[in-house]
Amino acid sequence: MRPLPLFDTPEKQKTLPLIRTELGECRRCKLCTTRKRIVFGHGNSEAKLMLIGEAPGEREDETGFPFVGKAGDLLTEILIEKRVNRSEVYITNCIKCRPPGNRQPEEDEVLACRPFLEMQILSIKPKIIVAFGKYAAQWLLGEIPSIMKVRGRIWRTSRGIVIPTYHPAHVLRNPHEIGKLRGDLDMAIQLANRRAEV
Ligand code: URA
Repeated sequence: MRPLPLFDTPEKQKTLPLIRTELGECRRCKLCTTRKRIVFGHGNSEAKLMLIGEAPGEREDETGFPFVGKAGDLLTEILIEKRVNRSEVYITNCIKCRPPGNRQPEEDEVLACRPFLEMQILSIKPKIIVAFGKYAAQWLLGEIPSIMKVRGRIWRTSRGIVIPTYHPAHVLRNPHEIGKLRGDLDMAIQLANRRAEV
């Protein structure tokens, strides 16, 4: 697997409010014509654990917050089981606006949005990044054969330590996989809480 370059042009570390200001009422791609709200991300700006999904769905588009639909409810439930409050972690997506009908983001949309997640990671500097699903995993790791092949393992990347896992929406459709999502999140939480370097 070829690691992706960290930045095309080196970016300085910026605060989340500044990054949000730079994003503005974004018109960098066509998703601006169909979205209701930009879903920038939510949580602790100094989180040790950062959770990254693909793109906002319908409920996220309506509220402006990530992972607040059915997949988000499952995620919140698992975090609570592990005694983690959503406000302790930082949750965001690779793409900040909802693709119509929840279709896969297109190349131009990915390119337009990419610098903002790069800047968010650089700003938060989390100890551990969890990538939900193949899309987010590829964003962080480069081309992968399938999420099944890479999930549940530690990947050291130029952006830090990444643990890919199943997307909660996938687990809603395949409930027998819930143990794997729980286990992967558990590993991520434990590593993020360790005092020493991982
Ligand atoms: N799916 C995602 O990938 N992100 C969300 O915010 C909601 C559902």
